[in-house]
Amino acid sequence: MSQKLRMGMVGGGPGAFIGPVHKMAAELDGKIELVAGAFSQSPDRSRAAGASFGIDPARAYASYAEMFEAESKRDDGIDFVVIATPNNLHLPVAEAALAAGIAVMSDKPATATYDQVLTLEAVVAKAGLPYGLTHTYAGYSLVREARVLCASGKLGPIRKIAVEYLQGWLSRPLESTGQKQAAWRSDPALNGPGGCIGDIGTHAFHLTEYVTGLKVTSLNAALRSVVSGRRLDDDCNALLRLNNGASGVLMASQVAAGERNGMRLRVYGEEGSIEWHQEDPNRLSVKWLDGPEEIRHAAGSYLSSDALTVTRLPGGHPEGYIEAFAVLYREFVDGLLAWKTDNTKPLPATLPGIEAGVRGMRFIERAIESSRTESWVQF
Ligand code: NAD
Repeated sequence: MSQKLRMGMVGGGPGAFIGPVHKMAAELDGKIELVAGAFSQSPDRSRAAGASFGIDPARAYASYAEMFEAESKRDDGIDFVVIATPNNLHLPVAEAALAAGIAVMSDKPATATYDQVLTLEAVVAKAGLPYGLTHTYAGYSLVREARVLCASGKLGPIRKIAVEYLQGWLSRPLESTGQKQAAWRSDPALNGPGGCIGDIGTHAFHLTEYVTGLKVTSLNAALRSVVSGRRLDDDCNALLRLNNGASGVLMASQVAAGERNGMRLRVYGEEGSIEWHQEDPNRLSVKWLDGPEEIRHAAGSYLSSDALTVTRLPGGHPEGYIEAFAVLYREFVDGLLAWKTDNTKPLPATLPGIEAGVRGMRFIERAIESSRTESWVQF
């Protein structure tokens, strides 16, 4: 029997963005192997992707339904599936996988709509199978360090959070050119009702709650479609209130020309603050009210065990996006293996799961409602 867990993929066909990243990340630690997939809605393109990934042609399926049916009958069938399709398919694919007894690693957002995520939550609970959600940024070692710092109380009570995720790639109507990633993201039927707020606002929201351990309790958001003719929001500003009385500002934009993946988190407590930037992810700035600024470097021997456990390389050899994804896969594999021996064992708490998925979808729904009514809304 193979020592590796066998992964199937839905999505990730020719020209796709995140599917190939999932394969690279999942296989990084040598514990997972991509063995099957329904990589595209087109059977020919699914076969072409299967060939490019070097999998058995018989396991490059014409549809995800066919894959789950065939794989669940094989002795060496897939242990789990990764969902890397447009958002509208996240629920049906997860439902079909779980019904076939196959665990799920899904890309975010968990579903296309808030109603769908409530259905998914019930389906996951009923199936009792592991479900992970790839909020990638949770996998960076210095995000884990920031999380430990917030929980330690050393920053003092947290009072203010500033989080932003700024991109510029939708500054022009790219969707009208047929560009694949822009086309489905601008189509409410394929994407869901939250454009930028769903695509990257949810990452900023997740990072906020993940690092601080706080929960957003109300918000006031303004969503706009800046580019003429665009059907979904492409620019969002939101004020947040958190359950300890802290306040926050969340900015997400895909029309911030010149920005690439400018995700930055600042958390201010009474005694000090932290700042982390995903484009410079191996440095964490820690500033103190009564002390000098510290820069903590990835792999530093002084870091918390939570940060060091998810570090692969000596300091100064940069780890990045793929490694962060791989951290989530490592936790998923460890959790899945533990679950296989004792199916009451949950996945590690550091790995985002269905709870994070529900909160993310609630965030989108609440932000849209707040923007529509131009008012504060309870979370
Ligand atoms: P993409 O358009 O590049 O890829 C989507 C793929 O799904 C394509 O290959 C398409 O052919 C395939 N597909 C569509 N319908 C299918 C079907 N019925 N069966 C099988 N395959 C089908 O999109 P993307 O940018 O890779 O985004 C995919 C998902 O990943 C989205 O939900 C997005 O939000 C998420 N994402 C997450 C991150 C992250 O950092 N975690 C980054 C980018 C995208």
